[in-house]
Parts: sequence; C-alpha cells; structure tokens
Amino acid sequence: MRGVAFFTLGCRSNEFDTHFIAHQFQLKGYQVVDFDKADIYVINTCSVTAGAERSSRQAIYRAKRLNPNSLVVVTGCYAQINPQALSELKEVDLVVGNTHKRDILRIVEEYLSERKGKVYVDNVFRQNSVESFELITYFEKVRPFVKVQEGCNRFCSFCVIPFARGKSRSVLKEKVLKEAELLAERGFKEIVLTGTQLTQYGWDIATDLCDLLKDLVKIRGIELIRLSSLYPSEISQKLLDFVLLEEKIAPHFHLPLQSGSDRILQLMRRDYSVKDYVHLVEKVIEKRPLSSVGTDVIVGFPSESDKDFEETYKLLSQLPIHYMHVFPYSDREGTKACKMSRKVSQKVKKERVKTLKSLDQQKRAEFLKKNEGKELRALVIEENMLLTENYLNLEREGYTSIGELVRVKV
Ligand code: SF4
Repeated sequence: MRGVAFFTLGCRSNEFDTHFIAHQFQLKGYQVVDFDKADIYVINTCSVTAGAERSSRQAIYRAKRLNPNSLVVVTGCYAQINPQALSELKEVDLVVGNTHKRDILRIVEEYLSERKGKVYVDNVFRQNSVESFELITYFEKVRPFVKVQEGCNRFCSFCVIPFARGKSRSVLKEKVLKEAELLAERGFKEIVLTGTQLTQYGWDIATDLCDLLKDLVKIRGIELIRLSSLYPSEISQKLLDFVLLEEKIAPHFHLPLQSGSDRILQLMRRDYSVKDYVHLVEKVIEKRPLSSVGTDVIVGFPSESDKDFEETYKLLSQLPIHYMHVFPYSDREGTKACKMSRKVSQKVKKERVKTLKSLDQQKRAEFLKKNEGKELRALVIEENMLLTENYLNLEREGYTSIGELVRVKV
C-alpha cells in the first residue's frame, strides 16, 4: 500500500481542497502517512505573498530531501499562477493547477504507470462550475467550516487570487442547506460559512448571502453561524440589517480595511472610502456593541508615505477594532500594483508592520477589558477551552462537554 502525505499552505480554501484530495486517495486504498514516511507528496501551495511562495518551495525541497525516490506533486495557487517556474525545479515531478485539482488522483496514477506528462494547468477563468465541491465541509476541532463559494470577481491591484482561483462560483443553496441540516443532526451547534469572497455568494446563481442566511437560521440545532471575511462595500443594506438583528449570526465580523488612506485605497482599487468604512464599523457597534470587528491591513503599498501610514494608524487606533492581521506588501507578478513605481523599502515596511502589530496587541487587550463581566455564548472547543460568540478564547476550568454551546461570564 502506498503512503501519501499532504502539506497545505495558505487559506481555508486550500485546507478544503487538501481534505477533498486526501479523501479521494483514501477511497482508492492509499494510506495517509506522516510527512517523513511518504511515497507520494501533495504540496498544496499558496501564492498570496512572496513569503507564502517561499514556504511552498521549502516544503517541496523538504519532501524530496526526506524521500529522494518519492513522487512530489505540487498543486494550489502557486502551481496555477507560475507552473513554469515550479516545473523547472528538479524536486518537482508533477505540477497540477487549481483547474485540475479534482483530478489529482487520476493524474498521479497515470504518471506512475506511464511516467509522462508534467504540467496540468488550464485557464482558470473558464471554470464555471463548483463541481469540486463534492465535500463542502472541513472540520476544525468541533467547528465545521462550510465552503459556499470560490473565486473572486474583483481585481484589487495587489491581489493574485482571481488569477489563481478564477471568477466567483457558488454552491447551490439547496446543497448548503442540506449540509447544514446534516451537521445539525450530528449535533454541531456552530457552523462557519466561508469562501474566497463570501459576500459574492450567489452572484452567479441569482441569489445572495442574505437569502442563504435567512434559510440557514431556520435550521433547528444550528445555534450560531459565524461568517468569514466580508468585503465592506459588498455588504448590502439588507444583509447588514439582517446580520445585526439576527441572534444566530455570531457578532464577529471580519471587515478587511487594507489602508486608512483614501489615496492608497484608490490605488488598491478598493471601492470604498475611509468614511464608508468608519460608518460601517460604527453601525455594527451601535447595533451589537460587543461585536468583534477584525480587519486586514497591508502596509508598504507602492507610494505609501509616512502620512498615509499615519492616517492608517490613527484610524485603527480610534476605531473599536478587536484585532488586525497585518501584512507587508509584496509584489505579485501580473498584478497592477507590481508595475507601480515608488516602491517602499523593506526596512520601512518592517517598521510599519511592527508598529501595527503592537497596536494590535493593545486593541486585543482593550476588547477583552470591554467584555469583562459580560455574559456571552461560547462553544466548548476543547476541555476547559472556550471560544465566545465574539471570538475570544477563554481558558476556563470545569467545561468538559466539547461541542456544546454554553453561557459564560468573561
Ligand atoms: S476582493 Fe480583492 S483582495 Fe479579496 S480576493 Fe478579491 S481581488 Fe483579492
């Protein structure tokens, strides 16, 4: 029996895909083994930053170093965007883009018997269906992540995701509802809805995220629905009103800002202004005061001046943000930003990341303080470990019923 090992980099979508591929291999009698014991490696790469590509290459080198006779298959966004570079690495046997991910098992078996073919990548914008979603749930401990959408129709000037994942495609509403019903029957209390760009759910199938949520909250047994990242200007008034009123929607909203300077937002091709963003956050906090609002920020975008950065810092200091993910800008080939002049030096980017990371720590502490003494719903994710509805991790003695939703005083 052949042993296969998986290594996944990047986002939740990649985790899903690996889960799906591993399932296919297992059905065919392969054994999923530890990384140092495999005959076949599937490295599911990420291309979102230069650092992610570097980590992907390191995983490839490590696999071949551990087992020089193994078959190393590279898939994911890096394989989709830059198959040529990967196929030139002597450690790589097969390159399979996102367009062919669902066929990896067949491609591997053909290669093992015929030893031919190396690169399998097609035009990702020709992908119209969501047929790779045979499995739409991925489990993280006791929280099922339900993937309802893939791809993105925006082209932010710094982002390669649309080139790697294609245009937005949605899982049929009936299928999502059926999946959620099955999860409820199995006793899961919280589900996390996820996708490359969740707010684009339904754009291709004449529905929308709000309609999906309205049906999901009717399912008995599902008590909390957490939403992954929401693109600020894609949140319709209808959706906002619904999520701020409906108790079953977790008061946890990840709203990527990217920059607090209108000039930089325009260069990034984000179609909201700082004022729109402030208004959105204020509305969330006004209606659900204990909401966790998370955000993403890119520092060192081409031409970002000290003044632009100060605007970002000032804005984030003043807004009731719970946490932020901070990324230094890195050039991604094929994007508009890559061709822009006035690049910011590594040194300045590092300093700005450091400054915002320290603000992030401060924000987290402030949020915890704001919640002190408040009673919240929380999921028991491990023995004595709770995750509150508003995304606080609490260590608390005496909670052993893993998977249950309890009420807890912070
Ligand atoms: S909205 Fe922008 S940053 Fe987000 S996936 Fe789409 S192109 Fe990338």
